[in-house]
Amino acid sequence: MELKNCKNCGKVFIKKNSGLCDKCHQEQEQKYIRVKDYLWDNSKATIDEIHQATGISKNIIRKFVREGRFRSL
Ligand SMILES: [Zn+2]
Repeated sequence: MELKNCKNCGKVFIKKNSGLCDKCHQEQEQKYIRVKDYLWDNSKATIDEIHQATGISKNIIRKFVREGRFRSL
């Protein structure tokens, strides 16, 4: 069992692949769902447009893109 600091809030937690504690991981998943819902209706949206429509930071959206979560981007 290895302890780590959460990349987002700095809280100590038991290491997982995401590098985020449970709370931040859940928040990130909620953001992902919001972006995904937006893209469902706006499949040609750019990262800027997604950011403006959802209020989610571009860094987080780019991270989702890097992880290959949105095939259309
Ligand atoms: Zn955290």
